[in-house]
Amino acid sequence: MSLIDYFAMHVVPKMYRGKGALHPAETGILTDNVSCIREYDVNIFFIRKNNTLIAIDAGYKNYPSFLKKAKKININPSDVKALFLTHVDPDHAGGLDIRQTNHFSDAEIYLGRIEENYLTNTYHRKQIGPFGLKNSISIKDGYHLLEDGEVTMIDDLKIQAYLVPGHTLGHMAYLVDDQLLFTGDSIALNKDGGWCFFDIFNYNSKLNIQSLHDLKNRINLSEIRYVFTAHNGFTDIASEAFRQTDVIPNLKKKGFVFDKTAPYDCFTDEE
Ligand SMILES: [Zn+2]
Repeated sequence: MSLIDYFAMHVVPKMYRGKGALHPAETGILTDNVSCIREYDVNIFFIRKNNTLIAIDAGYKNYPSFLKKAKKININPSDVKALFLTHVDPDHAGGLDIRQTNHFSDAEIYLGRIEENYLTNTYHRKQIGPFGLKNSISIKDGYHLLEDGEVTMIDDLKIQAYLVPGHTLGHMAYLVDDQLLFTGDSIALNKDGGWCFFDIFNYNSKLNIQSLHDLKNRINLSEIRYVFTAHNGFTDIASEAFRQTDVIPNLKKKGFVFDKTAPYDCFTDEE
């Protein structure tokens, strides 16, 4: 197991346990055209329009209940025509890794141009003491690289990519049909609204705060019906999602619980 996988699967769960930081949506149908699978602490989102199915992120490597959960929400993963990665951390791009079964084998893959530097290990993910954490995911060639602001049409679905650097340097948020905003690991959400994502695994939290400020100014919040996060579910009040994104929740504070309704430990239950 690589250092970053060890960190994602063993260190992060222990550090986060009991802090209420991770509260993804349960596997299910969320809105009229969005559904999701929960893999431990993270969501994969599916958007359907007419006969077109796209996905945001790909979850973990070798997640054991993936097919069972896909069936539960009537998703055939090989029907996914295009899959947009917010970033290439192991909980988001692991499902595309070439050393395991890729359930999205027929999907065109899209990611940010800058994010590719982690796939090629041109960038280290994070420096932890003497260790430069390297990315552990390899995805097959032929993926598409997106520029900031670029619009992609997948049949009748319009997907606009917004560069939101901070968690990683090439992190993208995606706005689908001008109404559905997928923020990946840039926003942490609880009953008080959206916050800057947790510092522990951000490459640069200050940069993330600036990026969210810019994003809020670039999109038309009044048109957005839902804002989705990768680890904290979603909200139908778009302005709430940006309410205090200039503040980093302090998980280190003794007794601090970010979301009292979150599971104690997302990694222990599979269902
Ligand atoms: Zn993540």
